[in-house]
Amino acid sequence: MQTKPRLILNPATEEIIAETADAGPRDVGRAVAAAKKAFDSGVWSGKSPAERAALILKWAGLIEADLAALAKLESQNTGKPLKLARDGDIPFAVDNLRFFAAAARLPEGAGTGEYSSGYTSVIRREPVGVVALVAPWNYPLMMAAWKLGPALAAGNTCVIKPSELTPLTTLELGRLALEAGIPEGVLNVVTGAEETGRALTSHPDVRMISFTGDTDTGRKIMAQAAPTVKRLHFELGGKAPFVVFADADLAAAVPGAVVASFVNCGQDCTAATRIYVEQSALERFSEAFVKETGKMRVGDPAQPGTDMGPLISADQRARVEGFLKRAKGVKVLLGGGRPKALKRGFFFAPTIVAGAAQSSELVQSEVFGPVVCLLPFKSEAQALALANEVRYGLAGSVWTKDVQRALRMANSLRFGTVWVNDHLPLASEMPHGGFKESGFGKDLSKYALEEYTVAKHVMFETTGAARKPWHYTAFGEPG
Ligand code: NAD
Repeated sequence: MQTKPRLILNPATEEIIAETADAGPRDVGRAVAAAKKAFDSGVWSGKSPAERAALILKWAGLIEADLAALAKLESQNTGKPLKLARDGDIPFAVDNLRFFAAAARLPEGAGTGEYSSGYTSVIRREPVGVVALVAPWNYPLMMAAWKLGPALAAGNTCVIKPSELTPLTTLELGRLALEAGIPEGVLNVVTGAEETGRALTSHPDVRMISFTGDTDTGRKIMAQAAPTVKRLHFELGGKAPFVVFADADLAAAVPGAVVASFVNCGQDCTAATRIYVEQSALERFSEAFVKETGKMRVGDPAQPGTDMGPLISADQRARVEGFLKRAKGVKVLLGGGRPKALKRGFFFAPTIVAGAAQSSELVQSEVFGPVVCLLPFKSEAQALALANEVRYGLAGSVWTKDVQRALRMANSLRFGTVWVNDHLPLASEMPHGGFKESGFGKDLSKYALEEYTVAKHVMFETTGAARKPWHYTAFGEPG
């Protein structure tokens, strides 16, 4: 049997909400063949940027028109609060698609000119070909848009594999793309887990892999891509620092820390996970942070008043619990376990931990749950050293009223996104992506479009001379 059934759960109720099939290597082969056929036929890459943009804009419009239903489905499948899907992720994803549709129309051509006497050079940016897109479970629709938007706008054809836990809105995106008139074979969806992902990312006809997920999975995909030397675009884990100086506006920093730490139940690669507070402000900050976090409303994601839903799965909750069980010498200031009132669902209370050692796994490894470490520092130099002392480098923030210090910190923090006096917001026009083991290649912005294209140098000889002045270096005499 090639195709295996898989049950899809609502993590807030543990109820089965759908059944999908795990694609086997033959199914994956069919999807890649459809994408290759569509690419080679020019049905997509042969369209003008304006024609592609028109179809992507139509698609974005259909997603927007379906917002209520998609947000409900996303919330049911991920357990995230409905308000986050409806007013956050999905409207942003629509804006991302609109940005990419328009950005791909901006003429490139920089560099066209004479760089060698008697020759005119032209740079073409061309689509890469068939692109495999592998997505995680935390923001299924938005991650799909971040990948499909630039890949399709640039003229590639795609096979996307959503996470085995959260495939439902990606399947809807595929349906809406067809409805918008994006030709068959241009956007293909395969469902399944690691085995399906492995078949896709090692397929010889796939020319590029765009992957968002765990750093260890990224390492495996690198190896899978190596035999056929595929181009890679990786958005991996994060362990974001949130650095609060004593002069910061604590009235802003405290609620900022609550939002940054517990958004999406902490299952966010940019979530604040290490809050470093200048010693002289630590007590004030800590008290207010614990008090404010205690007000978070944890429960049914469908209720308008819910701030935090469950973790994605029983496995993920066990993983989070494991980190706390293994932690030595720490003091749990808030939470630390399952909320007593919630008998069903993979819930875990917002948790604040003090006293973790900088070298401990709680500070160094990605928990990917609602657990944040509160840590002190004494000087700017120490704050910078502690913030940078992780293998990740995706995002971080600094909170201070001192402009020069803010700039010094922003310049020296080794993270792909640095916020000053806030934490989390992104913009379609601005690049997002990691340093160090958080990956390489940018999402969003014109830089993402570049990732999904290859530069080609076309050189025209303009003199018509039969023998060129340099030929003698390989054959014959000068003159
Ligand atoms: P994961 O690495 O377990 O899975 C991600 C995807 O990879 C899934 O679709 C999975 O089926 C697939 N996969 C697993 N093994 C594979 C293999 N060998 N070959 C091909 N595909 C394979 O990650 P997750 O648990 O879904 O997501 C959480 C992780 O994603 C966290 O580490 C988080 O930091 C990271 N993340 C990063 C960003 C970012 O922008 N940097 C965004 C979201 C999530």
